[in-house]
Amino acid sequence: MAVKSTRRTFLKQSGLLAAGTAAGSLTSLGVDLGTKRALATELRIRGAQAYPSICPYCAVGCGTLVHVEDGQIVNIEGNPESPVNVGTLCPKGAATFQLHVNPNRITNVLHRSPGATEWEVWDLDEAMDRIAELVKEARDETFIEQWEGVDDEGNEVTKLANFTPAIFTLGGATMANEWNHIHQKLMRGLGVVAIENQARI
Ligand code: SF4
Repeated sequence: MAVKSTRRTFLKQSGLLAAGTAAGSLTSLGVDLGTKRALATELRIRGAQAYPSICPYCAVGCGTLVHVEDGQIVNIEGNPESPVNVGTLCPKGAATFQLHVNPNRITNVLHRSPGATEWEVWDLDEAMDRIAELVKEARDETFIEQWEGVDDEGNEVTKLANFTPAIFTLGGATMANEWNHIHQKLMRGLGVVAIENQARI
């Protein structure tokens, strides 16, 4: 009887065969992968202090364990005691370590003037002052104190509005609750109504 193979089962069988062959070759060479992996993990975190934390990326809120040695993060992995993820992390969460420890991470403020082709390194205070100046300018130029329109019966009405439609703000999930709280208070104080957070999108 002919055996039907779909694309999905073919790929699955090929993957299993490849994995089996690789593992088989290593086992035939006397290499016990399970023991080696366990040993590598143990060496990486030996002597490190584990701190429970939360993955910073999305609203699922998976629990993590952050291993710290001599004030440096040496490993981040899923927390088996978290009822949310019981030790597992998605690929993004599993890469959280690289959010902190990454030679490609940019740690200076880079500014490129309109029309320029090169980035300039800016002092942080200078950058903050420039952002504050531009936010104030945009807000003052577009601030609407009174909204004028018509009501359901077609009568002209004026309502107190006090907002700017020119600024949108997007909070990040890597910010703490306290930061987000203060951030939205500042935005509401400025009259910004378009307030969103990446974790909710
Ligand atoms: S590990 Fe993945 S699913 Fe869990 S909180 Fe982080 S990004 Fe979300």
